[in-house]
Amino acid sequence: MRVTDQHLEALNRRFEGASPDDILRFVHSTFGERAALLSGMQRAGTALCFLADRARLAFDVLFVDTGVLHAETLWTRDSVARACPSLRVITLQPERSFAEQTREEGLLYVTREGQERCCDLRKTAPLSAMRGRYDAIVGALRRGEGGARSKIRTFELDPAMSALRIHPLAAMTQAELDALCEANPNLVVNPLHSMGFPTIGCFPCTTPVRPDEPARAGRWRHLAGVEYCGINPMDRGLRGDAIELDDRYAALFGA
Ligand code: SF4
Repeated sequence: MRVTDQHLEALNRRFEGASPDDILRFVHSTFGERAALLSGMQRAGTALCFLADRARLAFDVLFVDTGVLHAETLWTRDSVARACPSLRVITLQPERSFAEQTREEGLLYVTREGQERCCDLRKTAPLSAMRGRYDAIVGALRRGEGGARSKIRTFELDPAMSALRIHPLAAMTQAELDALCEANPNLVVNPLHSMGFPTIGCFPCTTPVRPDEPARAGRWRHLAGVEYCGINPMDRGLRGDAIELDDRYAALFGA
């Protein structure tokens, strides 16, 4: 069946005010193994893993290892895999190593055009290779992050992945996220957050930020105007009109 933005309106209305737990349970019961969490192992992403595991919901967790991540982020991935027995952490990788890519194309991340290609090759492409495997990809984006994410809806369409994008934490504030982490010592938190990194990406393109700077000031600091990598199409303002899903979901959309 063809799922359009109109179908999503009713679904988003239905889950307005729903807790992340309720949304995760709904996703699990509806999509089962055709749903996966997507986490870069930043604070909200590991909180999402924690909530799913605490509810004993078996999900795959997709983690894209660009080959140039901080050791702390890889440690976080491994710690989440150990701490969350209900989850299966799957590491996706680009086709070429960073060294091979640099040998063949140069140091892409130092220019704006190169950064787009590098992020496409090392972040988006490994995820795109999973197209068709999942009908729902569950991310940790929050409206409270501001910028392009300030209007994120719980349910979105991702035509490139031919899947729904679902954001159970869309309405969660920074204070609520902090409180969740503080109240649960077994919720794994990437150590870089306590070293001045409010948000975390690849090490060539991520720096700590000063207390007076916006949270994302440390991302692509060397490139004016670049804020997002594109692994979440909504960050680039790409909102699809429709996706194709199996007819077994028809009742979900009132079709
Ligand atoms: S964040 Fe930087 S190093 Fe990582 S994929 Fe994007 S451009 Fe390449």
